[in-house]
Amino acid sequence: MHGSYWSLVISRDALMETYSPPPATRTPVSTNIILLMQSCPDTCTGANCHCASTAIPGGIKPEDAPQFIVLTNDDAITTISHPVIMNITEKFNNINGCKMPATWFVSIQYTDPGLVQDVFVRGHEIATHTVNHVSNPDVNEIVGAKRWLNQTAKIPMEAIQGFRAPFLVFTPDQRAVLNSNGFLYDSSISETYPTASSPARNEMLWPYTMDYGIPQDCGISTGVCTAQERHPGLWEFPMWTIQDSKTNAILASMDPQGDQYELYKAELDSRLSGNRAPLGIYQHAAWLIADTNRATQLEKFLTYASQQPNVWFATVQQVLAWMANPVPASEYQQACPTSASLLSQLPGAKLCIAPNNGCVYGTWSTEQCRCACQNEDYATRSGYCLDEAGSCTIQKGYDFDLKEYVCASPSTPADGPSAETVAPPAVQLDKAECGHSLLQVNGLRISSKEPSPTQYTQAVKGVDGSCSTCAVVDPVNGSAFYTAQLPASETLTGVALLLGSDQTVDVRVGDSMDGNGMTNPVCASQIRVTANSPMVVTCGAKGSVVTVASKGGLQVCDLYPVIPAAASQEDDVAPTTVVVQMTFVGGGLSQARDVWAPAVCQVLKDITGDASATCLVRSVESVDGSLRRRALSAAGDILGTFEVTTINPLALNLAMRRGQDFAAQLQQVDVQIDPASVSAAVQTTPTTDSGDSDEGSLTPSAG
Ligand SMILES: [Zn+2]
Repeated sequence: MHGSYWSLVISRDALMETYSPPPATRTPVSTNIILLMQSCPDTCTGANCHCASTAIPGGIKPEDAPQFIVLTNDDAITTISHPVIMNITEKFNNINGCKMPATWFVSIQYTDPGLVQDVFVRGHEIATHTVNHVSNPDVNEIVGAKRWLNQTAKIPMEAIQGFRAPFLVFTPDQRAVLNSNGFLYDSSISETYPTASSPARNEMLWPYTMDYGIPQDCGISTGVCTAQERHPGLWEFPMWTIQDSKTNAILASMDPQGDQYELYKAELDSRLSGNRAPLGIYQHAAWLIADTNRATQLEKFLTYASQQPNVWFATVQQVLAWMANPVPASEYQQACPTSASLLSQLPGAKLCIAPNNGCVYGTWSTEQCRCACQNEDYATRSGYCLDEAGSCTIQKGYDFDLKEYVCASPSTPADGPSAETVAPPAVQLDKAECGHSLLQVNGLRISSKEPSPTQYTQAVKGVDGSCSTCAVVDPVNGSAFYTAQLPASETLTGVALLLGSDQTVDVRVGDSMDGNGMTNPVCASQIRVTANSPMVVTCGAKGSVVTVASKGGLQVCDLYPVIPAAASQEDDVAPTTVVVQMTFVGGGLSQARDVWAPAVCQVLKDITGDASATCLVRSVESVDGSLRRRALSAAGDILGTFEVTTINPLALNLAMRRGQDFAAQLQQVDVQIDPASVSAAVQTTPTTDSGDSDEGSLTPSAG
């Protein structure tokens, strides 16, 4: 029933009639290629058959034809790629008020099914790009992706119509698989000009069905196609190349180098003055991430495009639907289903929209249908909270009463105009006895031998100023000891104690660590302590070591020295700047600079427990001078230097001394450092807190 061979020249002559006026210049067409072309009969019409042609469908005049612009993104839909594309499409509307849609060629590996649903519910098109992004995919790779999108992401089978070959390596076999498995179209074959199928930039090939072969010049592509193959009803949506305006040199069919605004504007202007073949913006999210100028340029182009008459942003499927039933632009009604109606097509799915900006400091949780922010579940760690857009951009605050990192309630303004309006929190009975953190004592040693980081961390809990965390001290040979040693320059005259259990303890104050602080005490007393009731033991003499001992185990929840008043002047402490250095492991320079360093700075600030502390990233640099972006396998390549200014430098020094613990804390925010590389040095003292620096005084003014 199909007709005999005829020449493309004839169809081009027919095409001339629909043009007014015809393009000024024509590039001579290679007769060799034309001879390969098969005829396409007049009976090839409608949704299932469309001849390869530069003619506008339906004989519509160029000025009446819609100019379609199709944005596609390839590869996995992840928390990284999703916001990059959404940040663009959500900014633009069609003239019917609907958001600009995109077509996503999804490779399944690494794809988050919840994000696929999010994309679908926003009116975008979900298409396939194999399961594992392999070249020369077999039927399992091609059809498997469609099945996964349907079975796991719940996208209706009939909505998944398109395919793009990974690496654009396409073959006749692939197209045969597509055709026998219910696909509507392939979009893999590059189309350039001037060629037999696209004589000029303003006269480009329209999409077509492969009933009568493939007229394109696959010699310029990375795949194989022939004029002889037949795939009835299967559309090819060409990948029109972006070419240099002056030289016609082919730049790329995807991710073209150069100013994105200039490149796409030149292509669009040509089409608007020509046969209005669709304009493809074929990009990868990673391409846009790699240089943020590209998104800016692209948005500039889309702004320009949206101001041109009859321009429509469309998916591939929407373009093909129009071609099956072409109407003038003035009559065009682009389908624009609501999110609710699209959602109703997803069995069992709930409306779950990820923030356009991504989660930032967090990861998208499909189960919870929201961003899970870094460390949000850990009251003892710094981290991030949800902002109003649902991204994790708000840093946790530190509640000095709860001694926890907390997320402010979203309805509360971050900073009230006046501190006086904030009501003081309820005071616990033992509140006044807690919070005298021994950790702030310069040169403190705890549990003298510090046998392991774990035990050390455990021991620290008893002096961390928090009454809610208790050091659990296991007995050795029937007795448990808990010892804190002040530096020689400090003296104590007693100790305040809060234990987690009722017991009798031996409290001794001495001036040496002999016998675990028990030998030759300057004073000693045996007292009965009630759980969670602060007890103060004073001593007439002065010492520097305090030991609490008991038969059986101990739970030391708070322990702090009673220091003679003259030595205790915490109010006027001048801030000190501590320079902290560490080596990042892996990740690469940009990762270390943009992601890790800010996170480290936040952790460093938090460690001080000082609300007014500041942290500055002084430098993040490649030690050997090479700027390697890729993941590095060896440690020691990227050195981070930070400046923390705080009234509590000791806490930092303690943390740095325990590099292993510090590294573990950073791992909680996905930062990798070499624990052995951590160092801290006190660099400068006082920072003037007034703008008037003329006084030149090194000591804080009493006023
Ligand atoms: Zn790909």
